[in-house]
Amino acid sequence: MDISYILNELGEERENYFNAIAPPIIQTSNFKFNTVDDFRSALADEYQGNLYSRGFNPTIDILRIKLAALDGAQDALVFGSGIAAVTIPVLALLQQGDEVVCVENPYSWTIKLFNNLLPKFGVKTTFVDGSGTKSIEAAITPQTKLIYLESPNTFSFEVQDLEAIAKIAKAKNIITMIDNSYCSPLYQQPIAYGIDLVAQSATKYLAGHSDVVAGVVTGKKELIKKIFEKEYMNIGASVAPQTAWLLLRSLRTLPIRLEKITENANKVIQYLEQHPAIERILHPFNRNNKQLALAKKQMKACGGLFSIVLKNPSLEKIEAFCNNLKHILMAVSWGGYESLIIPACAGVSKADFDSNNPRHVLIRIYVGLEEPEYLIKDLEQALKLISN
Ligand SMILES: *Cc1c(COP(=O)(O)O)cnc(C)c1O
Repeated sequence: MDISYILNELGEERENYFNAIAPPIIQTSNFKFNTVDDFRSALADEYQGNLYSRGFNPTIDILRIKLAALDGAQDALVFGSGIAAVTIPVLALLQQGDEVVCVENPYSWTIKLFNNLLPKFGVKTTFVDGSGTKSIEAAITPQTKLIYLESPNTFSFEVQDLEAIAKIAKAKNIITMIDNSYCSPLYQQPIAYGIDLVAQSATKYLAGHSDVVAGVVTGKKELIKKIFEKEYMNIGASVAPQTAWLLLRSLRTLPIRLEKITENANKVIQYLEQHPAIERILHPFNRNNKQLALAKKQMKACGGLFSIVLKNPSLEKIEAFCNNLKHILMAVSWGGYESLIIPACAGVSKADFDSNNPRHVLIRIYVGLEEPEYLIKDLEQALKLISN
């Protein structure tokens, strides 16, 4: 399907709302029925239509149709956060006694889901190095029901071979799920590689303006229906119509935003690569990345996220560099207009910081939509201050 058709027309029945160009916000919690018979059939199968906005709502439906099409999926569910789009499907798919194989270093709250929440329900998770398929295969037991991937992750950017892993899983009737937030549907299409469920934090590129928290999961209708009917409805993490509308508005500019973000990030990376104060750049398309060939096979481009390591990265040096940035803002999240920075050491107590720990010394940069020269100037003055 043509991307312009998906973003402009698909799901939008303008004749139903006064031929308005922009979609309407149907700000209602409930929908009326004319007969008990109609009411009964709606109650019996809420997946079929509008009954109550904790389930479906016309504004959210326009968004679902577009998000499913962007992923090449049959259906989509939209959630009140990205982590709900991870947690709720996982809860829906597993029973007591089941096991999960998860790649190392996924998103922090995903780790907590597998380490803290699922054990309460008797579900065990094994974390494995996902850079090859052998460790994944070795971790599979007869109880394994889910293989959970994040390719690339959003701090150190390891990737997994989606096609090979999907094949292994299919042969054993194991469901595969990926967090595709880093790439968005524009840069990676996991369903085409055989992955069953694709989750994304819509807070990031899809919303793209640092003003919305939301999530999405896409996949086959039967899986989406299963997630919807029980856990989605019971946990109640649906999105408000107003938020869905903001996402619809944002989707129109997703291609142009991502294109410019990618171009900006590449310019900033080029600058940093030649800077003597920089030890290393972590980025899927970096020429020194051991996984470069696989990353290039699966991904069209990388967007704005990468990490750097300073030369001789003491805590004082990392802090001085970050504290001295004037325009690049220190904040969690990414995907909006504003360029952001997170030093991993902010998540480690001063006493525990170890400059020999490769994860402690990472500084993650998100390059947004400012002009790259403006960002480079900011990085330059902060690097100068720590180079003396
Ligand atoms: C932000 C993020 C999430 C969580 O999304 P929220 O919208 O913050 O709940 C999940 N996975 C990745 C990779 C993320 O970056």
